[in-house]
Amino acid sequence: MGKIHIMDEFLSNKIAAGEVVERPASVVKELVENAIDAGSTSIEVLLEEAGLMSIQVIDNGSGMDEEDALVSFQRHATSKIINEHDLFRIRTLGFRGEALASIASVSKVTLATSNGDSGIEVVLEGGHVVNKRPGPLRKGTDITVAQLFYNTPARLKYMKTIQTELGHTIDLMNRLALCYPQIAFKLVHHDHELLKTNGRGDLRQVLAAIYGLANAKKMVHFEGETADYKVTGYATIPEITRASKNYVSIFVNGRWVRHYTVQKAIIDAYHTYLPIGRFPIAVLHIEGDPFLTDVNVHPSKQQIRLSKEGDLMKLIETSLHNAVRASMQAPEIMKKP
Ligand code: ADP
Ligand code: MG
Repeated sequence: MGKIHIMDEFLSNKIAAGEVVERPASVVKELVENAIDAGSTSIEVLLEEAGLMSIQVIDNGSGMDEEDALVSFQRHATSKIINEHDLFRIRTLGFRGEALASIASVSKVTLATSNGDSGIEVVLEGGHVVNKRPGPLRKGTDITVAQLFYNTPARLKYMKTIQTELGHTIDLMNRLALCYPQIAFKLVHHDHELLKTNGRGDLRQVLAAIYGLANAKKMVHFEGETADYKVTGYATIPEITRASKNYVSIFVNGRWVRHYTVQKAIIDAYHTYLPIGRFPIAVLHIEGDPFLTDVNVHPSKQQIRLSKEGDLMKLIETSLHNAVRASMQAPEIMKKP
């Protein structure tokens, strides 16, 4: 008999979790992205011990019926893509069908969800269903991930301080709020409210909630279009700068990404206006046919490949440069609300 065997699902999920679930913030990211994909207009995140003790995400999205709720924890279970064709036209944040299976394999999960007709509450430990009963009828999903990494002590050991882990989640939630001004977000740690947006779709208001009203008022709006892409954004006038590039947020078709060349185009747009070693606060939304963007580069989906990059960079640099220059020539426009 050969030595090779196919590992059981629980073991393979735990291995996959090593990639998908790095820290509490990665769990928050996956759960909130699921809530966004479910069409929620209100998403609340409640944390204890920076999420190491508990992460609860409550949404008012589509919810799931009993059957889907149970299937959702299986690896490669997704409602978002069906065939290879879809893979090149992704419009949802999720598509790999791995998050819930991975998260459940390294924590204790309670999921209460309903599509408005049928609801279920299911409890899992280490990926195994240990309890289920009829759930709420309110449409939406309420999921709690408790005792993250309770069965993977090696990973738990790598967690940084509460403050550091919390910092990662605050940063993530801020970016999601900037990406989706039309969704009302709330982030609460124990009893402290760390972020609250109103979901009215006003990006400048989200900027004020995150960076303060005074800074939000000192940001210029810019936009532009090529045959393939549309860009819109806000960026601070050179008077307001930061010591790190981390205040530049880039979103492509509703996904927060890290993209060196786009970041460089934003900074280059300032030409010599920025002091050396100082960077703007900026938010850039790029929209284009999903066919032009490849997000299937890494499981975290934070890297992206953009086609026709050269034209896009020129568009970003020019439109932002013009807006910044105009603000310097006519500072009174900044006084407008
Ligand atoms: P993916 O998001 O890649 O599809 P997940 O493991 O994150 O994979 O979720 C599996 C499936 O569970 C999703 O495709 C979706 O159908 C369902 N689901 C997860 N979270 C929610 C939610 N908050 N509301 C509605 N459906 C959800
Ligand atoms: Mg998902």
